[in-house]
Amino acid sequence: MEKISEHITLREATKSNTALRLNINNIPNDYQTGNMVAIAINLFEPLRKWVGGAIRINSFYRSEKLNQAIGGSSRSQHCQGRAMDIDDNFGHKTNAEMFEYIRKNLNYDQMIWEFGNDANPDWVHVSYVSKDQNRGRCLRAERIDGKTQYREI
Ligand SMILES: [Zn+2]
Repeated sequence: MEKISEHITLREATKSNTALRLNINNIPNDYQTGNMVAIAINLFEPLRKWVGGAIRINSFYRSEKLNQAIGGSSRSQHCQGRAMDIDDNFGHKTNAEMFEYIRKNLNYDQMIWEFGNDANPDWVHVSYVSKDQNRGRCLRAERIDGKTQYREI
């Protein structure tokens, strides 16, 4: 089985029910795959080591077509293979704990506390570009009057 890193298979990194349903190609090219390996090695694997068990990846690579189909941002870093959405459904650490750990200990480009409440986000979006180019920016996404708004936190 082809792997992105020790704990991420290519299948998991590209799986999308929407892509399957709409028959959308969701295979990354070499450039995108290189970006996926960078975030997997530099961010996901150190995080997983601290978490001490599996972390669900809800969305990782998205082709432009898939991103459009799910209504993602037109400049989504998922399309470059540079972002992943992680979720705590395996129960080792909460989303809030993973968010704080990444913020304090790891190099990242942008991280988003996705909805939820003050105690825990519904999921965490995190991206990685390169050690030199990462902005280290944290945002919180909230729905206000039915629209998604982002503010720095
Ligand atoms: Zn995301």
